[in-house]
Amino acid sequence: MGGGRTVEGAAIYRRVNGQYVRQVPYKNQPKEKSFRDKVKEAKTKNEIWALVTGKYGTKGVMRSTLMKSDLELYKRVVTTLDELEEQYPFMKGFVKGIRSRVTAVASMDLTDDSDGAYLKLNTSVWAADNARLHSMDPNERGYHPPHTSPESIIAHEFGHAIQHYITIRKKAEAERTGIMAEYEFWQKLQAGTVLDDVENKALRSLDMDANTARGGISGYAQSPDDKYHDTNTSPQYESFSEALADVYANGNNASRESKAYVQALIAEAERYGG
Ligand SMILES: [Zn+2]
Repeated sequence: MGGGRTVEGAAIYRRVNGQYVRQVPYKNQPKEKSFRDKVKEAKTKNEIWALVTGKYGTKGVMRSTLMKSDLELYKRVVTTLDELEEQYPFMKGFVKGIRSRVTAVASMDLTDDSDGAYLKLNTSVWAADNARLHSMDPNERGYHPPHTSPESIIAHEFGHAIQHYITIRKKAEAERTGIMAEYEFWQKLQAGTVLDDVENKALRSLDMDANTARGGISGYAQSPDDKYHDTNTSPQYESFSEALADVYANGNNASRESKAYVQALIAEAERYGG
């Protein structure tokens, strides 16, 4: 910002204790605090509860998920979700809230009306800042992208939300254009993803085959362990999410494979607008 002349608003005086005090012009008033600032400052679970229900509504959030989670970790979850919505603005409003699950670490599941998705947390894992959140399996180097953290788990799940978003939009488009005749296409849509064509775009830009490219993202992207992923989904379902987690955690230092996958995914999502 350069210097230059400052044009001041008309001075306004207010009487305080018998004295006239100059009021700060409106434009110089501190900006209203952002959701993330308020989350950062919250001291209790009740304060966080008020903030998240203010954002998602009480239907979207389970109070038990919050009450059973570690407060600081829960704050990191909602903050990361908010940041990701800012980074990928077409996703604004798509994630409808935060709920509980009992297996794995976290997931991103479609809402019953397929109008959006819920982030689900396994509250026994999110009850404490435990090692499982920092690396799902510390003995397997490279199984997840480097610098895995609770935040990158949320970024991974957000990657699934973007895939759900594309799937839903594709389905709506197919219904409009009448391509829905193919039963298999419906099946794939219901399984969560139809992204072969998007992956192929990334592979062309990388000049690689799928197995090599997925291996460059992470071990989990290349061969997802059936313990952790839904075997009904297509193989690249985890690859795109691992790529998004890599880009979230490492920015420009993410692998070129991850960057190419995320770029292709975002280009596809942006076709459908906001
Ligand atoms: Zn996943």
